[in-house]
Amino acid sequence: MSTDPMMRIALNGATMGTRYSVVAYARPAFDAQTLGQKLHAAISEVDAVMSNWKPDSDINRLNRAAVGEWVELPPGLLSVLRAALAIEAQSCGAFDIGVGATVGAWGFGPYAGAGSVHSPVPRPVTRQALELDQVRGRARKHAPLCLDLSGIAKGFGVDRLAEMLRSAGLSSWLVSIDGEVRAGAPKPDGTRWAIGIEQPVVGRRDLSGVIEIADMAIATSGTYRHCREERGRIVSHTIDPASGCPVEGKLASVTVLAPTCMEADAWATAILVEGRWPASGFVTPTEIDALVLTG
Ligand code: ADP
Ligand code: MG
Repeated sequence: MSTDPMMRIALNGATMGTRYSVVAYARPAFDAQTLGQKLHAAISEVDAVMSNWKPDSDINRLNRAAVGEWVELPPGLLSVLRAALAIEAQSCGAFDIGVGATVGAWGFGPYAGAGSVHSPVPRPVTRQALELDQVRGRARKHAPLCLDLSGIAKGFGVDRLAEMLRSAGLSSWLVSIDGEVRAGAPKPDGTRWAIGIEQPVVGRRDLSGVIEIADMAIATSGTYRHCREERGRIVSHTIDPASGCPVEGKLASVTVLAPTCMEADAWATAILVEGRWPASGFVTPTEIDALVLTG
């Protein structure tokens, strides 16, 4: 076996309205340039399929499709939709990708300005109104739906990048998109990956602590970012699907640890909506844990 020191590779680029970043350790002869191109192509593909901001994305094609019409979808999107509906059921509707129009009515996201918060249109239950046909790779709506993947797609994107790193033969890496992170094995010196947890303060980026992880994903959702202040109150981009209003719970930020980043991403949103940890309104899977901060 070679005793060459491992080489540290750092790659990053634009995706999903923010940036992805990868740090990995490899043997010195490793072709980092080709890996970089493959990672960029893979994450761009996820963005092209799942972005609510791109009119031609597959998710927007499904959003525009007529009720009852089968829409062929790529396997990655079907697996994200399946996971989203499962977490919707497990979280008793706290996580709900059917909030797209409501998010827009409150002035956030790509559908901002669509509809009014004063005259909300009643919404169907997403998991009842969306039928997935995994075998034939298609989906159809049984009622009008405005599906919003912003609370889960970044986590899926991180998992996709992690999968690419593994298939390139690398085991020690850290991948992130914004606040959604996944770590592989510890660094060659045996230390784990240090992840900063931000203080939940609007407009500032100070750390409240550090968590060291390996072979795990971590994601944070908070009311202190992507928000606006109205008459001294924070209006968050996270919606409580039960009320149709931005969350106003006691929690300012929720950081979830989970085996995959998709789960961490979605459960962080669900627990922020619930406003309590441990959650009392639903049972979280045993493999997830959370760290919550109040404002
Ligand atoms: P970010 O990492 O961008 O801060 P989050 O993972 O916290 O985002 O998810 C928030 C986004 O998810 C919102 O901008 C909105 O598009 C969507 N969203 C809002 N409320 C919910 C909800 N209850 N369930 C699922 N998605 C939601
Ligand atoms: Mg999320």
